[in-house]
Amino acid sequence: MSIADQKLREIREQVQSHLASVPKRRDAVHTVQLEDRIRAQLKAHNAVIVAHYYTAPEIQALAEATGGCVSDSLEMARFGRDHPAETLIVAGVRFMGETAKILTPNKRVLMPTLEATCSLDEGCPIDEFSAFCDAHPDRDVVVYANTSAAVKARADWVVTSSIALDVAEYLAENDKKVLWAPDRHLGDYVRRESGADILVWDGACIVHEEFKAKGILDLKHVHPEAAVLAHPESPASVLEIADHVGSTTQIIKAATELPNEKFIVATDQGIFYKLQQAAPDKTFLIAPTAGEGATCRSCANCPWMAMNELELLAEVLERPQGREIFVDPELAERAMQPLDRMLSFAQSLNTGVVGRA
Ligand code: SF4
Repeated sequence: MSIADQKLREIREQVQSHLASVPKRRDAVHTVQLEDRIRAQLKAHNAVIVAHYYTAPEIQALAEATGGCVSDSLEMARFGRDHPAETLIVAGVRFMGETAKILTPNKRVLMPTLEATCSLDEGCPIDEFSAFCDAHPDRDVVVYANTSAAVKARADWVVTSSIALDVAEYLAENDKKVLWAPDRHLGDYVRRESGADILVWDGACIVHEEFKAKGILDLKHVHPEAAVLAHPESPASVLEIADHVGSTTQIIKAATELPNEKFIVATDQGIFYKLQQAAPDKTFLIAPTAGEGATCRSCANCPWMAMNELELLAEVLERPQGREIFVDPELAERAMQPLDRMLSFAQSLNTGVVGRA
């Protein structure tokens, strides 16, 4: 089922009220003060920042400058697990904090705000999802990383967008039928590409669902030399006209490897920080979200990722109450099994999830 419009409106209002409460127009001096405060806190608490590609450039830059990482959700969790820091500051959305905690139960996992969620996670509540699984016992349950710990615990496989296709092909070769959740666009893409028998849960990412094929074609008319890079959470009409479809890290890789000097990018604009870093001489344009049927609920900028403000990052170690991620150990143990399956599968492909993510 899709996330109900009412629920989405409520979440949107919550995000807007949160963002309105953060002081704007921060000057450069204040920014440096905040960054110095964060650096001192990280050192004092043996902590490291683990940030997602979709967070603000200043967060990504600070994570890198302080020895943390900027990556996709799984590599964030793997980096956090392998890093010697005792505390992980996860700048991303809640399921990323949960995944980090599941992989690293002995570390403290903090987030600038626990209100940062995801429409895919919100659109796949465990009770309804469990009933859906019960109604289709003949199918292997494959869930995307963008789900709660409880949904992961109900699954046979957890996948990232980088490895979803490989897993679906493997299951199809072994005559397995798949129940896929929660992103319908990614599920449909995997079904089309792999030929696997896949029953798809009806969820969507409010950021990627907004990209419009017509708007992209119009932009391409103005910039005919530009290649289109699209994340598979985008609608099929967008993927059909893309020169490259891939996960966040695959998009960055494609931008460096393709000969084009210009790209139209259909994913959250937070990725532009890393794209520009990886290919400083190339030009990147945001894929349009305007056009027929547009609501511009996100405009290529995830509202929940935007909640990871520098101000909150400065507070998280000073006032950690209400910002720590806890996952029930029994639930974490069950969720770890499909996560482990994915990690082993990735290793057996001799690709490593990192390289393909
Ligand atoms: S960009 Fe989409 S999938 Fe990613 S956290 Fe935001 S709502 Fe979820």
